[in-house]
Amino acid sequence: DTKVNDNLSTILEWSKQESDMGVYANADTPADFAQALKFGADGIGLTRTEHMFFKPERLLEMRRLIIAEDAKEREAPLAELAKMQQGDFYELFRLSEGRSVTIRLLDPPLHEFLPHDEKEIQKVADQLNIDPTYLARRVDALKEINPMLGHRGDRLAVTFPDIYEMQVRAIIGAALDLLDQGLIIEPHIMIPLTGSKAEMKWVREVVVNQVEQLFAKKGAKLEYTVGTMMEIPRACLTADKVAEVSDFFSFGTNDLTQLTYGFSRDDVGSFMPEYIKKGILPADPFQTVDVDGVGELMKMAVEKGRFAKPNLPIGVCGEIGGDPKSIEFFEAIHVSYVSCSPFRVPVAKLAAAQAHIKLNKKKDVMANLVKN
Ligand code: PEP
Ligand code: MG
Repeated sequence: DTKVNDNLSTILEWSKQESDMGVYANADTPADFAQALKFGADGIGLTRTEHMFFKPERLLEMRRLIIAEDAKEREAPLAELAKMQQGDFYELFRLSEGRSVTIRLLDPPLHEFLPHDEKEIQKVADQLNIDPTYLARRVDALKEINPMLGHRGDRLAVTFPDIYEMQVRAIIGAALDLLDQGLIIEPHIMIPLTGSKAEMKWVREVVVNQVEQLFAKKGAKLEYTVGTMMEIPRACLTADKVAEVSDFFSFGTNDLTQLTYGFSRDDVGSFMPEYIKKGILPADPFQTVDVDGVGELMKMAVEKGRFAKPNLPIGVCGEIGGDPKSIEFFEAIHVSYVSCSPFRVPVAKLAAAQAHIKLNKKKDVMANLVKN
């Protein structure tokens, strides 16, 4: 075990010397984050906050919130959830010891938190002490035919801004708590599913207003950033405009691939193997970047984004952020960091270093050719 750990440390050390690409982890719990740190992660590149709401007592509060129609009824569950979220973020920030942590605001459609069949509706109505027909009506109102293209991501900030406001207060509140103890945290707040500058500008204002109010209330301040996921083709096509209101970009290649190909990320099993077997696709584009299509959009977004903001940090936090072949492409288009599941971190680090050496060598060969 010690020998394996020594070898891992040596590889990570070499990798760090060779590449300046950051390798972060996708982590939603302190346990995942601790594991990622053991594997040499530079911090967290994506916390999917929706995963924090599935513990029974939280799910109940979330349900209470979602079904409440008027602002007054929403106050109590929002306050409860804010307290729980602040504890979640406090733990992640504390473990980070000042390393970079990026928290993504709520992404999935709200109906995912609600019961669906009659029996479950009855059970939840009993737990919440409400009328089951009222609950059934609320469940119905949130039902969608195609939820992955529907009422999710930052669209929720437009319709239910109080949910994002609660999360922002919890993130900044946790960072201020740690500041009191002498640990400086710069939270990175990430907005999912942005499609346009106008949308990002609107959501950014919701976030910034909330932060400023909290700073005023606490009489304290800290540095923070507000960036966006790049996972809708339209955002990539207009990346120069989106960059004007974003402090960083992070490609969500799962949704970007889904939306570029028009392949449902949840249903590819029924046809993808045939496409690969018959040579129509070289590989599953959700696992290895499709350089000609999705990759071209990414390249365009990097160029446009940095045209507007030359030092814009740009990452990849979709599944392929940990795939070595894809990492070589990301290095070539000047992505600044990748983020992947904790267990893929060491391989990603090594791949980043190899890609750096390979691409720089290529540049040297070119330089010699030009010289001679
Ligand atoms: C993505 O779409 O690539 C992403 C990282 O977000 P999620 O998988 O949570 O949609
Ligand atoms: Mg996504």
